[in-house]
Amino acid sequence: MAELVFFSGTMDCGKSTLALQMDHNHRARARVGLIFTKLDRMGESVLSSRLGLSTEAHEVSDDLDFWDVVVEHLTHGQRADYLICDESQFYTAAQIEQLARVVDELGIDVNCFGITADFRTELFPGSKRLFELADRVQVLQVAALCWCGARATHNARIIDGVMVVEGEQVVVGDTASATDASVEYEVLCRRHYMRRMSSHAARMASATPDVLPFDLDVCAVPPRD
Ligand SMILES: [Zn+2]
Repeated sequence: MAELVFFSGTMDCGKSTLALQMDHNHRARARVGLIFTKLDRMGESVLSSRLGLSTEAHEVSDDLDFWDVVVEHLTHGQRADYLICDESQFYTAAQIEQLARVVDELGIDVNCFGITADFRTELFPGSKRLFELADRVQVLQVAALCWCGARATHNARIIDGVMVVEGEQVVVGDTASATDASVEYEVLCRRHYMRRMSSHAARMASATPDVLPFDLDVCAVPPRD
């Protein structure tokens, strides 16, 4: 039975690396796949991982119809044994429904990789629909770590060094290749997310610059608005 699987996690948990590894494993068994991504940090039509690997991919625009793309591919006599869909948090709810239809009616495995929630801790539209429709949701086991060493579960947006919790849901930024150089993301544990304590803020709050404030009392909980 073909399946729709959602591999979810925070940023930095190795999703794209796993997506590339999965593609490699299938290819090694002479299986043919279609690879999709959206807003990859390396640019359009490429699926890249932080470890430096990359491969060509179809860029997913908002008006791309997965059903049409796959059916056209098959109509031209080409094979498709599986789909790998990276950055699927950015897909529309309708696109996730198209992917479910590809699984159900064409019997093709669809593996989606994506971030669960945004920097405000709210679900991305693609991730929300995947939680609702996927046959399986697999939380990735390569845990990203907060600066304190705890398992990082939340994505923080940092603008000009300051953590923010309001703003547009999708602003692609990265330390390596930012379109807007002032936007960065950092993964944090929930405690430090709630306390708005990024690694930079922690260093600033620390009495001595070499020692990070592991004592939570140093990281005051911000007042609620
Ligand atoms: Zn922490």
